[in-house]
Amino acid sequence: MTIAIIAHDGKKAEMVGFIKDHLDILKDQKISLIATGTTGSHVEKAGLEVEKFKSGPHGGDAQIASRMVEGRVDMVIFFRDPLGKHPHEVDVNMLMRLCDVQNIPLATNPAAAQLFFKAL
Ligand code: PGA
Repeated sequence: MTIAIIAHDGKKAEMVGFIKDHLDILKDQKISLIATGTTGSHVEKAGLEVEKFKSGPHGGDAQIASRMVEGRVDMVIFFRDPLGKHPHEVDVNMLMRLCDVQNIPLATNPAAAQLFFKAL
């Protein structure tokens, strides 16, 4: 199973915390993580394995969306910062739209991600 993780800048620490809190599930379920570049670097620095793409504003969301269209992503966790402005908003909207097109579960905040992980 592959889970894509993405976090806007204001939410990266929360993402690292979330992943660390769920290491057991990740191991038990043999889950691979893929991430946009900067989110991936943060997770790597915490000692975890993750496949990194370009940073979000440089096309990382689009690369993850492409994987989704290929049927290679089972879940997306995207901790969005609703209070920030993002230069790549169109890419973010595209990724979220494709989650619906492909029927891929999308958690946009820690509470939703928590519920998703309970179902794993
Ligand atoms: P980043 O991208 O992980 O490279 O910062 C996240 C995003 O798409 O906003």
